[in-house]
Amino acid sequence: MSDAPIIVWFRKDLRLADNPALWFAGQSGRPVIPLYIYDTENQHKWHPGAASQWWLHHSLKSLATDLHKKNTDLVLRQGDPEKILKDIVKETGACQIAWNRQYEPWAVPRDKSIKSTLEDMDIEVRTFKGSLLFEPWEIKTKTSGSYYKVYTPFMKACREREDTIRPAYDVPSIQTAKSLPKSEKLDDFKLLPDRDWDEEFYDVWTPGEAGAEKSLKAFISDHLTDYKDGRNYPAHEDEAVSRMSPHLHWGEISPYQIWSRVKEERKSEGRKTYLDEIIWREFCYNLLYNVNNFTDQPMHEKFSGFKWSTSENRLERWQKGQTGYPIVDAGMRQLWRTGWMHNRVRMIVGSFLVKDLLIDWRKGEKWFWDCLVDADLANNSGGWQWVAGCGADAQPFFRIFNPITQSEKFDKKGRYIREYVPELADLPDKHIHAPWDAPEDVLKEAGITLGKDYPEPIVDHKQAREEALARYNEIK
Ligand code: FAD
Repeated sequence: MSDAPIIVWFRKDLRLADNPALWFAGQSGRPVIPLYIYDTENQHKWHPGAASQWWLHHSLKSLATDLHKKNTDLVLRQGDPEKILKDIVKETGACQIAWNRQYEPWAVPRDKSIKSTLEDMDIEVRTFKGSLLFEPWEIKTKTSGSYYKVYTPFMKACREREDTIRPAYDVPSIQTAKSLPKSEKLDDFKLLPDRDWDEEFYDVWTPGEAGAEKSLKAFISDHLTDYKDGRNYPAHEDEAVSRMSPHLHWGEISPYQIWSRVKEERKSEGRKTYLDEIIWREFCYNLLYNVNNFTDQPMHEKFSGFKWSTSENRLERWQKGQTGYPIVDAGMRQLWRTGWMHNRVRMIVGSFLVKDLLIDWRKGEKWFWDCLVDADLANNSGGWQWVAGCGADAQPFFRIFNPITQSEKFDKKGRYIREYVPELADLPDKHIHAPWDAPEDVLKEAGITLGKDYPEPIVDHKQAREEALARYNEIK
């Protein structure tokens, strides 16, 4: 066995367990060079947003600590991955490189080019499936052999292949390299904000493999069985979702690990629904990979002619959680304060932006991209195309969420609203969903003057709905 090392290029797989590329490197018996490259050249418009950068900083720190416990270090570099990899190969004499595949439209051509450049240098390149249960080219319709555009048959096709889902790998033992190439400092990446808007992030999140493991464990023991209904209620006291999304996005845990752990639990509606949500993620990746310009163009072409509002004021009030609709404002403020928003509320605020404020879904998509710690090109674009009614298997445009009835149904006692819109905290439950309908004396007693302490509603929902339907009729 030659002593030439193998490079493991970490990307969106910031973990040691169930990491096929790392596992392969461990089996090779070669000294391992663990490398992370902060790609400043290829991501362009979809460069990680501020909240994602925060997460990435802490996740890399955690990975570096975990590798250190295995007597090695994480080599950090930033710049153009192709150039950096060529340099490191020359410097170290590495003869192999392994990575887990990515599927973003900017990553696929980058990786192809790097693979062929390295192969021309006689380097063996091994790539693996590490972040999806099924490759986006694996699940095809039986009739036309094309990719699925509708979720339910896609989900059934995945379920039919369930027995091909491999068990999760353990943490491999790896041979450490005698010397590692020079590393930049994590702080050189400048991923943390200059202003401290991230204070609350530290209370809410623990980025890294151990944090992912802990969250999954807690979710399984506390909420899995009740997930089917419980997943709809956003208030902290009621919340029954897993919050695995940022961990999954950065690959601190793999879908295989989640699948196999959840499958060990007894059968329940909750278990089934949860695994179906994991398949929604697969479905979104299937679309991201197979649909041309999925992130920027409506799948239903007719939406290209939709007359969007260009009001900056409306967009800004939505972004800041100042629309005067308490459930919408609570969601937007949860996003700002914690880098995450409950799925039910993502659907409500998304519908509100597109169908009440008539603002192009791509502006919402971009704002989420900057603010979410789980910002994920497949799931975010999938979510926005669904909300706007222009995507595969989307909520039809004419089905418009009513923010008041949604709020009354899913935040009945107004706990979620009170947490994120504290100026409304003293309103009785009955009036917290639509403060403009509250009698003067009730508002007074709660210490609220509308338009001063809390905004008047930005639009009248009924009128906005009519306007949205009229515009939809123009493109139908
Ligand atoms: P859970 O309910 O516990 O679900 C477990 C996992 O299943 C999630 O972590 C996620 O990986 C997957 N999942 C659940 N729902 C969906 C879904 N609708 N589509 C795809 N995968 C799903 N999810 C992201 O991960 N990143 C995003 O950038 C993102 N943007 C969204 C934007 C909009 C407008 C909408 C409507 C949804 C978006 N979602 C996104 C999907 C969903 O809201 C989040 O995955 C979920 O809220 C994350 O919380 P959780 O991990 O507690 O979810």
